[in-house]
Amino acid sequence: MSQSYSLALLEDTTVTPERLERLAARVDAEESETSLVVRTPITDEPLASVPAATATDVSTAVERAREAGEGWAATPVEERAEVIERFGDLVTANREELQDVVQLETGKARIHAFEELLDVPATCSYYAGTAAEVIADDPRDGAFPLVSDAVVTHDPLGVVGVISPWNYPLTLSMTDAIPALMAGNAVVCKPDERTPFVALALAELLEEAGLPADVFQVVTGEGSTVGPALIDAVEYVAFTGGTETGRVVAERAGRNLIGCSLELGGKNPFIVLADADVADAVRGAVRTAYANAGQLCLAPERIYVAESRYAEFLDAFVEATRSLTLGHAFEYGPDVGSLIDEAHRDRVDDFVQGAVEDGATVVIGGNARPDIGPSWYEPTVLTDVDPDARIACEETFGPVVIVTPVRDEAEAIERANDSSYGLNASVWTADRDRGRAVARRIDCGTVCVNDAFVVGWSAVDAPMGGIGDSGLGRRHGPEGIERFLAVRTVATSRVGPLTFPSALPMDWVARLVSGGLTLKRRIARRLR
Ligand code: NDP
Repeated sequence: MSQSYSLALLEDTTVTPERLERLAARVDAEESETSLVVRTPITDEPLASVPAATATDVSTAVERAREAGEGWAATPVEERAEVIERFGDLVTANREELQDVVQLETGKARIHAFEELLDVPATCSYYAGTAAEVIADDPRDGAFPLVSDAVVTHDPLGVVGVISPWNYPLTLSMTDAIPALMAGNAVVCKPDERTPFVALALAELLEEAGLPADVFQVVTGEGSTVGPALIDAVEYVAFTGGTETGRVVAERAGRNLIGCSLELGGKNPFIVLADADVADAVRGAVRTAYANAGQLCLAPERIYVAESRYAEFLDAFVEATRSLTLGHAFEYGPDVGSLIDEAHRDRVDDFVQGAVEDGATVVIGGNARPDIGPSWYEPTVLTDVDPDARIACEETFGPVVIVTPVRDEAEAIERANDSSYGLNASVWTADRDRGRAVARRIDCGTVCVNDAFVVGWSAVDAPMGGIGDSGLGRRHGPEGIERFLAVRTVATSRVGPLTFPSALPMDWVARLVSGGLTLKRRIARRLR
């Protein structure tokens, strides 16, 4: 069913057509009669194909995962941790091939392929080191001291579905799968149809690390077929992608009464206060707004600068933008790679042209670059943008940033919060306490002070996620593994059934029990 193509491009990589065919052969899709051709955005040539799984293929994969998962769930957490740590080591050791595959599938610059790889070993170590404590039985206060007790137990849910997008296909196929596996679940991952190969390469490394066969599986195919079938078969779904698809996923999970986490889009504000170090802020903005050509849910898209520093910031930011190099190489060099495909390039350009029609000024950029490759787009800075324009409200998901002056801190906060999204924000100031105080007034799941998102994303011990149209639930931190655990309370009576004594009149009992309860509450208040 799978086929690969001998592209000249592959000669500069560690990847061969046969290697891609072997990876595609990992997908067990017996019912599939069609395949999906994966194209490389670098040249828009076909790279290789993968099976388009049917709904039956998906339920078969989940059933196999469920069976294999029983042994994995019974494996002591310390042994699971060893497998996950080994996997983290293997990802690091195989980074050249993984980065090549990511670049082939996404067209991103080498540096951004390297950055996405870093999250995996860090997440492996974090959950390998902390899962045992989260999973351990947790004794709680019983209803009555000495008379009863209560213990909370944590078990795997069963099979977790991970639905991942194309923009960070390596990180986002794994960053939820790792805690799900550490919790003792099996995982079935559905990568985006444009980027299936890196997920397949990671499945191979998980097995090499010692994960039993079938505990982690990849099903390839169209989201509209594979997605619903997966949500209907699993016990939890961890989704990353667009807000509209997120709503569809949440509706289906809701109907099935299973849990879901949704990491969706953002329209992330970046606030430069009057006392900020402008050089630092410019460095932070240029480094993150164009990361992965802006196709990053955490990237800043709206920059608000205190009036007194606006001209200084804008000049320096435009100069820094001008200095970026666009292009492609399977080595470090170009700063800005390709967008995912021509349709997305056209969407980004529509946002920019629409903004110009509404009165915005293009200070730099604003053009597609077919001379470099079919889907390249110039890093673009816009000013004079109407706050109600589409580009000011909807996620552009491209290398396009709006810069706007604001009177003061209060207006910056008001503008930042004037959005249906709430994923990530940043505040730039010489006074870190002031930055933290401003951060607490911003309606986002993460707010970074003097850094755009790296300091927040890479704090793996701290939860990450959005509010509003940016999603539900959290990844990273204890919250990131707790969602994959079934919580049970086991309460035990040491004196048989707790009933009211029948030997006493009920009004005496009521007085005694009420008095006892009042005494218990008073003691508890004293001890607080
Ligand atoms: P989607 O939300 O469509 O895709 C994300 C994943 O969901 C893919 O694996 C996709 O599969 C799958 N999917 C599609 N339909 C369904 C369905 N009915 N049920 C379950 N899963 C489904 O993102 P797009 O690629 O269309 O991007 C649209 C916009 O979303 C972007 O422009 C950007 O604004 C935002 N986005 C945000 C991301 C983030 O990291 N927060 C990541 C990607 C996009 P397939 O594509 O194979 O059909």
